[in-house]
Amino acid sequence: MENLKRKKLVNTGKYLADNQLAWGTSGNISVKENDEFMLITASGTKLSNLVIDDFVRFNVYTGEKLGDRKASKETPMHSGIYKNCKDVKAVLHSSPFYATLFSCSNELNIMSELFVETMYYLEDVAYIDYYHPGSQELGEAVAEQSLNANVIMMKNHGVMVFDESITEALMRLETLEMACKMIVESKKAGIQLTKISDNVVDDFLENSLYKPRKVIKRK
Ligand SMILES: [Zn+2]
Repeated sequence: MENLKRKKLVNTGKYLADNQLAWGTSGNISVKENDEFMLITASGTKLSNLVIDDFVRFNVYTGEKLGDRKASKETPMHSGIYKNCKDVKAVLHSSPFYATLFSCSNELNIMSELFVETMYYLEDVAYIDYYHPGSQELGEAVAEQSLNANVIMMKNHGVMVFDESITEALMRLETLEMACKMIVESKKAGIQLTKISDNVVDDFLENSLYKPRKVIKRK
């Protein structure tokens, strides 16, 4: 079972790198193993070529770590989310080009009223200021915003997405990157984007056959 989760994380890392959703040594990913422990990428790993030994078992409540490897220095952001969000089973942190471009600007409004997937996956996006990677402050800011969101844009850094499964978290990340790219490219091309009206968005979230709305109920 544990190996299966490790393999899934290895494949996810490769998918992120292959699809320009992560690059270099930036980014770290994790899944919940059970009520207390998460499996997170070890320090110094590269998402593009992870192997099954590249993960650390880490107790999100006590900070206890099993095994010899050092956990990613950004572990506090992951454990903070799992502590606050019992429904979350997977967390992805990376710096895809277009989402990071947004995070390095003051253009922080990422529209969710663009297309089907943005309505669904970008309903609850939160924004946090810049704090140094691995710092307690960053971990706390992420944990606090995780109560109201499934996507957190981190100023001048990148993005955190989290969900009930890796598949859903990945879909959230891809939707975010697609939306950011669309907004940037439309500006370059002088194309005016049209938004879906609020009442249609509401109707979609409540009454469409797409997927049941993920209403955030945390704390
Ligand atoms: Zn980072």
